[in-house]
Amino acid sequence: MNPDIERRVNETPFIDTHEHIIEESVRLGEPDGALFTCNDWAYLFWGYAASDLVSAGMPQPDVERFLGPEADCDEKWRLFAPFWPRIRHTGYGLAARLSIQELYQEDDFTENSYRRINEKYLARIREGYYREVLRDVAGIESCQVNSLHDVFCETAQPDLLMQDISILSLSEPDIAGCLRLCSLPASTLDEWHALIDWFFETYGPRAVAVKSQMAYNRRLDYEAVKEDSARPLFSRLASGETLAPAEQKALQDHLFRYCLARSREFGLPVKLHTGYFAGTGHMMLDRVSQNASDLCRLVQEFPDITFVVMHIGYPFQEQMIALAKHYPNVAIDMCWAWIVNPAASVRFVKDFLMAVPSNKLLTFGGDYVAVEQVVGHAKVARRGLTRALSELVDEGWLSVGEALALVPELMNGNARSIFGQGSAEGAAGA
Ligand SMILES: [Zn+2]
Repeated sequence: MNPDIERRVNETPFIDTHEHIIEESVRLGEPDGALFTCNDWAYLFWGYAASDLVSAGMPQPDVERFLGPEADCDEKWRLFAPFWPRIRHTGYGLAARLSIQELYQEDDFTENSYRRINEKYLARIREGYYREVLRDVAGIESCQVNSLHDVFCETAQPDLLMQDISILSLSEPDIAGCLRLCSLPASTLDEWHALIDWFFETYGPRAVAVKSQMAYNRRLDYEAVKEDSARPLFSRLASGETLAPAEQKALQDHLFRYCLARSREFGLPVKLHTGYFAGTGHMMLDRVSQNASDLCRLVQEFPDITFVVMHIGYPFQEQMIALAKHYPNVAIDMCWAWIVNPAASVRFVKDFLMAVPSNKLLTFGGDYVAVEQVVGHAKVARRGLTRALSELVDEGWLSVGEALALVPELMNGNARSIFGQGSAEGAAGA
């Protein structure tokens, strides 16, 4: 790897464009049974790495006990130890190892280290540790958080944890879920429109973007469905009826486009999950393969919205390169991708930069719930970005100077332009 590029990448702060980090105040308390399931070293595996454990053969009940509040540290080690050698080299396993190296100066999870790691994990959790972990250890200027609890999270640290408006429950629609967050009537389509307006008017001015992960549940072929067609569907749904799949799709099509119109009004980029599914045992790859083609119509019809296509559409990332090259209003976000497949992500950066204008690539989002996990992921991303740019130089496609000039743009400048964020303040290098 080129040492000049490596140095530049290591000292440049990331703007992290996608996380699900829960509030620090939650982590300072007891596990809540929701996204904070246990408070010991096993929590470093919560989410993605646990999926690799399942994929490697760890029985589901054991995974739940491993991530739950009841088993002690030693039992957790006995459950985990047989499967760790199988996943330690994957992007998820690598990120977990790099996290403990950076945070606790421990090299690996072993029979001899897990108790020490647990002590160091607990000792680090204190007021203000989010800022310290993200800025001082991971070299991250700020994160953009998509709350998995709320449409919008009123964070205690808005300069560090910027927030997306999650339109999933507004467009699905999850009527009961939204009514827990506001006291508005919701029995007619017009009332639901007013409820969507309320969320945008209340949170839009403070939001950094809009996010939808609807691609987990359906295709992204959102058609233009008129109010008159959607009105009776909404009324039936609100009165407790179950809609037929085609009716449900039509209502979602209408509501999603309604949310897009609000996003445009507030000047908010729209982030869309594409590609691979988190978890295990439920992904339908034929539908995933249609994400890029399904988006063509939408990005044509809303030319003044910036669509941020997340996770590089893995494993169909070549299609996303074509999409971003062709459409001025499409950018690609590599959030999560570095740990889904680090080697493919290196190839992706090279392919992207040889084909697409460089201002349309966002190179980091940890996509984690636990702040500690972001550290290792940022390290994988820095290593991958360094490798991709070094290889482009070695292969004669870029000069060292050209590669160095791209670094700040790819790591924070593009995010600043796309999301209209202010300049770096109090940011530290890694
Ligand atoms: Zn995510």
